[in-house]
Amino acid sequence: MNAKAPMLPFLKWLQTREARMTRLLGQFVQAESPSFDKAGVDSFGAIVAAECRKRGAKVRVLRQEKRGNHIRAEWRPPGKTDAGQILVLGHLDTVYEAGTLARMPFRISRGRAYGPGVFDMKAGIVIALFAIDALAAVKVAPGKRIVFLWTSDEEIGSGTSRGLIEREAQRSDAVLVLEPALGSSGCVKTARKGVGEIEIVATGRAAHAGLNPEDGVNAINEIARQIARISSWNQPSRGITVSAGLVEGGTRTNVVPETARVVVDVRASHASDMRALERKFRALRPILRGAKLQIRGGFNRPPLERKASAALYGAARLLASEMGVTLGEASVGGGSDGNFTAALGVPTLDGLGAIGDGAHSPGEKILIRAMPERAALVAGLVSTI
Ligand SMILES: [Zn+2]
Repeated sequence: MNAKAPMLPFLKWLQTREARMTRLLGQFVQAESPSFDKAGVDSFGAIVAAECRKRGAKVRVLRQEKRGNHIRAEWRPPGKTDAGQILVLGHLDTVYEAGTLARMPFRISRGRAYGPGVFDMKAGIVIALFAIDALAAVKVAPGKRIVFLWTSDEEIGSGTSRGLIEREAQRSDAVLVLEPALGSSGCVKTARKGVGEIEIVATGRAAHAGLNPEDGVNAINEIARQIARISSWNQPSRGITVSAGLVEGGTRTNVVPETARVVVDVRASHASDMRALERKFRALRPILRGAKLQIRGGFNRPPLERKASAALYGAARLLASEMGVTLGEASVGGGSDGNFTAALGVPTLDGLGAIGDGAHSPGEKILIRAMPERAALVAGLVSTI
């Protein structure tokens, strides 16, 4: 880490840009970008790519066949070739269907901006772009290459972007994730649980429920017993949760059901617990005689453990204090793409984006006057890491 960043000059300059930040945010929110709508994500991506180019980045559009394109933008420090890299990570997609704007338009009220994806995470992209502007305005040249990676499918599990994120992370000295902050004071996220989905399918034997039930093997009973068993694996105090989220089974009431299934949400705070939990699921055996079990799935995001973010958090807290801001930290149950980068051992700080609340809900909003402060923090980090 370098010595100092001019935090107050960053902040003062960015505060004069608050209206411009809000205007750009409005443009971003008005370009709807549902994860499954390739055309929508692509046209929003093109707007973001143009904003990066305007700021002197070398931009590549990483074309995808089915999902939206990913955008990679790079700023090289003048005169240096092997200076290292800082990855600024976020996503273009939102959870809102196309047309949501009609009942949930972009609007400003009492210092808050509302709209689909405003908090998760279009304001985060605005913050990152204005951090680049602040560097130029205050004439600070970062020592490292800065790479922005805006992906198209974070809200649906990052199927087409995970490899790309991991490759970029491996080339980076640090990863800054512009996902929303937590709470009204804007805590960054220093730990996230690993998240997975495991399906258990039970196969029994069908029979008439009245004539010869003794010949049947009730798959619903089997699944019910398995749910009771896996539910006993919950250890909230250790950060382990196991929650049956979906059950299906049977055909009609007078038939002993032949098949049933449950899909389980699993989360763990530690990588070792994640692996142990996966092993326990794989080791499940039928309880009813004659029943069979199949187990599918597993964790799709490893946990982001605090050890991956502690040093960056310390640096961020110091930079924030120079602006008179107390930067808190939080650990959360939801995963993000920061989970992938932290699991590779690359220092990762998440939740650097907007302050607000109501992600994925009709009341989603951000606090406008906090945007300059968050952008100053990102500028400070990329110039001192
Ligand atoms: Zn997000």
